[in-house]
Amino acid sequence: MVTQIVAGIYQLKVPIPNNPLENTNIYLIQGDKNYTLIDTGWDSNTAFNSINRQLAEVGVGLPDIGQIIITHAHFDHFGLVGRIKEISGAKIYIHDKEKEVFRTRYEVTEDFLHQVEVWFTLNGVPAEMLGAVRAPIAGFRKPLPAAPDVLLQGGETIATGKFNLQVVWTPGHSPGHICLYEPTQKILFSGDHVLPVITPNISLTPAATNNPLGDFINSLLTVKKLAVDIVLPAHENIFRDLPKRVDEIIRHHEVRSAEILKAMNRQEMTAYQIAELVTWMPEQGGIKYADLKPVAQLSAVSETLAHLKAMSVDGKVTSVTRDNIVYYKYI
Ligand SMILES: [Zn+2]
Ligand SMILES: [Zn+2]
Repeated sequence: MVTQIVAGIYQLKVPIPNNPLENTNIYLIQGDKNYTLIDTGWDSNTAFNSINRQLAEVGVGLPDIGQIIITHAHFDHFGLVGRIKEISGAKIYIHDKEKEVFRTRYEVTEDFLHQVEVWFTLNGVPAEMLGAVRAPIAGFRKPLPAAPDVLLQGGETIATGKFNLQVVWTPGHSPGHICLYEPTQKILFSGDHVLPVITPNISLTPAATNNPLGDFINSLLTVKKLAVDIVLPAHENIFRDLPKRVDEIIRHHEVRSAEILKAMNRQEMTAYQIAELVTWMPEQGGIKYADLKPVAQLSAVSETLAHLKAMSVDGKVTSVTRDNIVYYKYI
C-alpha cells in the first residue's frame, strides 16, 4: 500500500467510505527528528487503522509525526487530524483563509444553514429542493477536533528536515487551498488543485471567494510556471506532465462556459434554470441534470454560479435582481 516516491517521501492511500474516489493520497516525509504528514484522510476507524498499518510498513508510528500540513479543509483531507494530533502532539499547518472553513465545517450553526438556503433561493432553486441542503451539511456537525497551530499565507518554506517545502497558495477549489513545492526534487504536492483525470469542483457559495473560478484559473497558471518533474496529487495516480494537464483543465472550463452561454440563449435566466440545461460529469460520459442526485443538483447550481461570476468579471454576462431572485443575461 505504501509507495516510496523518492528516498524519504512516501505515498499512503487512505480509504474514503462510499466514495467513487476510493482513496485520499496522503504523504509521509521523513525528517531528522520526526516525520511530516501532508493531509490525513477521512475520519473513520477503517482509515485510521489503514494509516497505522501503512506507517508500520516503513517502521513509523503516529507518535513520530511532528507536523501535519493540511492542503485544504475538506473532510477527505483533514478528517483524522484530531485523532493524529492527540497521539502525536504534531503541529497543524493550514492556510489562514482556510481557518474559517475549518471551523464552520465543524460548528455548523443554524445561521450558516439559513444563509445557504437564502443563497440557493436567491439563485432560483425551488423551496422543495432546499431539504437537500440541510441533511448533508447538518450531518457534518461534530466537535472541533483540533485548532491549527500555524496559519500560512503562501510563500513560506516549511522545513521538514531533509526537504524544504515551499507553500504555494492556490485558491479556487477552496479559498485557502495550498500546494507544496519541493524544488530540489522538483516535486509538487498538488492536493485537489490539479488531479490527473477529474477536475476539482469549483463552486460559488457563501463560503467561497468572490470569483472562485477566476482564482482557480490563476492558481493553475501559478503552478504551471514551476519546474515540476513529479506531481503528487491527493487523489488518483501520480503524473508528470503538469503543463499539459493544466491546459486540459482550463480547456474543460472554457467548454463548460461556452455551453452555459449557449444554454442562456440570450434570455434572462436564473443559475438554477441554466444548470438544468447543462450536461454534467463529462468525465463519466455526461449526465443530464435531472438524473443527478439532489445534492449533486445543488452543487451543479453552485458550479454554474462560479462560471457566471467569472463571465460577469470578464464582461460577458450581466445580472439583475428582481423580487429577490437573481437573473443572468449574456450580453
Ligand atoms: Zn477538496
Ligand atoms: Zn479531495
